[in-house]
Amino acid sequence: MDKAVYTRLPWQDEPWQRLQQARQQGRLPHALLFGGPRGVGKEAFALAFAQTVLCPDSDGDGRPCGICRHCHLLHSGSHPDFQWVVPEEESKSGEIKIEAIRKLTASASLTAQSGGHKVVIIQPAHRMNTAAANSLLKTLEEPTRDTLIILLTDQPARLLPTIRSRCQQVLFQIPPHQDSLTWLGGKIKHADGETLLSLASGAPLLALKLDDADLLAARQRMLGQFLSLGKQQKDPVALAQAWTGFDGRLLLEWLAGWVIDLLRLKTAPQPPQLFNRDQTQALHSLADKLNSGALHRYLGSVYEARALIDSNLNPQLVLEKLLIEWRACR
Ligand SMILES: [Zn+2]
Repeated sequence: MDKAVYTRLPWQDEPWQRLQQARQQGRLPHALLFGGPRGVGKEAFALAFAQTVLCPDSDGDGRPCGICRHCHLLHSGSHPDFQWVVPEEESKSGEIKIEAIRKLTASASLTAQSGGHKVVIIQPAHRMNTAAANSLLKTLEEPTRDTLIILLTDQPARLLPTIRSRCQQVLFQIPPHQDSLTWLGGKIKHADGETLLSLASGAPLLALKLDDADLLAARQRMLGQFLSLGKQQKDPVALAQAWTGFDGRLLLEWLAGWVIDLLRLKTAPQPPQLFNRDQTQALHSLADKLNSGALHRYLGSVYEARALIDSNLNPQLVLEKLLIEWRACR
């Protein structure tokens, strides 16, 4: 597992120091909840912190030694006391099920095989179904010594309040714009940092992920198709079909961004903020022809669709309905 490489992101110093202090003073809680938007580095932080906890020779700043057995096992993805719980790949619902939580509960009650700590990361924690969440709650109510459970989510409100209240919460925020630009510089190839950050709502890791030639081309093509639906692009059902198979969640985020930008462009010809700065002209020419009330209602439908796609409704049906509504909106 090559993602288990110790990396610290420059904008995470504050929570890092705070947790290191707690660790050194023996005040680490049994469960941590890392919340905050996607793409700000919660996962990297959790991994780095897991390494700190598992390596017996971490220094005062939490830097693991990198050479001990624990560090090697973590790097090779075979540390017996480290678990990363995610939804099963085959699971159509994308849920984390009770079996996965039971397994971790059972192993958490055993002594660490390596005689040290155990770390479990659950991601995305809001994807636990009800049974799984209740099972985890029992574990949190009777914590095992030396086991640290870290929940990662960009939607903490979707967790049971009883789970949230039993975790120490760490909130990750969008870093200052300039910090993100500096961090991205040198890492990106296909678009400029400003454009990528706008598209990613300021989240630097998401911006880096979007720096992909195919993805950027797909976005441009889809935006063109969306804007011309009802004109060159005639059939919403055919378009929905063409879009099915693409990452539904990302597509709906883009769609929401297009509609929000259309609304912004209706209020000011050069709004200070736009998700799609590079597409201002195309959006602008359409914005004048649309009605604000209808755009607001449509945005509501996009948000509803996002919730439906998350709860596993057939993505093609969701898209069809949205695109038919969009054509009517025109
Ligand atoms: Zn080590």
